[in-house]
Amino acid sequence: MEKEEERFCLYCGKSIGTRKNRLFCDSDCRNDYHNRLRRKKLRIKNEMYDKLNYNRNILSGVLMEGRTCISIDEIRKRGFMEGVVSGYRQNKNKQEYACLDILYHRSKTRIFKIRKKTEGDQ
Ligand SMILES: [Zn+2]
Repeated sequence: MEKEEERFCLYCGKSIGTRKNRLFCDSDCRNDYHNRLRRKKLRIKNEMYDKLNYNRNILSGVLMEGRTCISIDEIRKRGFMEGVVSGYRQNKNKQEYACLDILYHRSKTRIFKIRKKTEGDQ
């Protein structure tokens, strides 16, 4: 017969015996565990939003210069992070990317057709 394995609280690491349906010592540990998880998720979400907003401001800066196109090299120099997008969709045969309220297309060498999202894009 297989030996029952000792289990440990997911929050504090103390032994909680061998019962398989138990994950925590008590409700305090369970609540603290879920609170910590929630804070961690929130922090990750905030960090992601900060990166999106950073990219968004770079794209907005290009628009404010009266341009809708910029080379990848140039936008990289401004700190643009290519992997950071809030969405993308197929528009005709081109992939259109979204960075919060700004949309753009991209090729290997440039980012182009940069524009602000309008009502019609929803
Ligand atoms: Zn515990």
